[in-house]
Amino acid sequence: MADRLDRPLAPVPPDGMEILIFYKCPHCGKHVGVASPTDPRMVTCEGCRMAFPIIPIDEHGIHYIRIMLAGGKAAADPDFL
Ligand SMILES: [Zn+2]
Repeated sequence: MADRLDRPLAPVPPDGMEILIFYKCPHCGKHVGVASPTDPRMVTCEGCRMAFPIIPIDEHGIHYIRIMLAGGKAAADPDFL
């Protein structure tokens, strides 16, 4: 068991992805990151803890990027493969 932990780990490749979209908080102006927001909803600002509604992004755009990058797997830097 201890021997297994002492061995260096091989670098792990990407295995999934989200697109981080930023919204400017209408209360304090901080940019709030939301992962792939394809539905309208309320988000809470990390700066002032106030909530505000967001306009969602088009799901087709995210789907296209996911296909292009094979869900993150094809996004790996080729120098590391
Ligand atoms: Zn805020």
